[in-house]
Amino acid sequence: MQYRNLGRSGLKVSELSFGAWVTFANQLEVKQAIELMALAYDAGVNFFDNAETYADGIAEQIMGKALRKLSWPRDSYLVSSKVFWGGRLPTQRGLSRKHIHDACHAALKRLQVDYLDMFFCHRPDHETPIAETVRAMNTLIEQGKVLYWGTSEWSAEEITAAWGIAERYNLIGPTMEQPQYNMLHRERVEKEYLPVFKRFGLGTTIWSPLASGVLTGKYNDAIPLGSRATLPDYEWLQKRIQSEDGEKKLEKVRALVELALQFEIPLPQLAIAWCLRNDDVSTAILGASNKEQLSANLASAKRLSEIDAASWIKVEEILANKPEPDPLF
Ligand code: NDP
Repeated sequence: MQYRNLGRSGLKVSELSFGAWVTFANQLEVKQAIELMALAYDAGVNFFDNAETYADGIAEQIMGKALRKLSWPRDSYLVSSKVFWGGRLPTQRGLSRKHIHDACHAALKRLQVDYLDMFFCHRPDHETPIAETVRAMNTLIEQGKVLYWGTSEWSAEEITAAWGIAERYNLIGPTMEQPQYNMLHRERVEKEYLPVFKRFGLGTTIWSPLASGVLTGKYNDAIPLGSRATLPDYEWLQKRIQSEDGEKKLEKVRALVELALQFEIPLPQLAIAWCLRNDDVSTAILGASNKEQLSANLASAKRLSEIDAASWIKVEEILANKPEPDPLF
């Protein structure tokens, strides 16, 4: 496992990490969570990602029980939470000072830790002044309850505004952003964020490196029973896969399957290695509903050295979605 600095910070994060969305509580109970987290940790993964909204807090409870059972030294791993979608009441949502304060303390309890290594604003909150959010995060950092704060799916403009406030009032700005990034979704990371990477040295903990499993090729012919797209409440994924746009993407995935066969590399590993080629990616957060998937995906990083420049050109020819550079940047 290689370790990358989280942006301009000194924090070393494993280039592959492991997250709890969908899987923890829906597909994995404590016993399996322990097995998968141990598998990841033994392979060198040091970052475990979570959020207050994942299974309404149960994903964090499961991770907390697993961390307790595994009893790794606290200085050997990183754990995150995200704030935005708490409960149904107006005070339980968004990025007000109150909800940020409450969400942090609730996550600490569920995860059974004294501090969060990373705390993300899960989405921008257009009803709260960014200054209030920056101050609330800065306070948690000063209290030692959070070490690094970041954003998730904020626009470059919103990140710039947060940094503007931080610099003006001598507060700590966001260290990292958590955007979706994969072969089928690249505009934001490869184009929109370039100025903020350069100016603020933002790190990224990218999500859905396999586009929720689409980039494994498992949806190429049908929707397999038991896959994420068949889970209750994930009908939206099935609809997305079966849409006109989804069919266009599957065409590319079918061609990628053929290419991966020629390279003698499983497509999921090729797709995850593709994310790691980008130096603006600090870590790619893996998702897995069983041990086999996780151990296969953890082998992706070492594939990087096996794929030469000419092969990546063939991949890009199939994807045909590289963002045009911004002439003003
Ligand atoms: P992926 O895109 O990698 O999808 C993971 C899913 O794909 C698995 O749960 C499994 O689903 C399927 N899969 C993975 N590997 C294989 C394989 N080798 N063969 C067959 N199927 C496979 O990542 P996620 O979408 O899970 O996202 C990863 C993490 O990112 C999350 O856990 C979360 O921490 C974070 N995230 C953050 C978001 C944000 O807004 N900040 C949003 C979404 C995720 P199955 O077996 O059920 O089909």
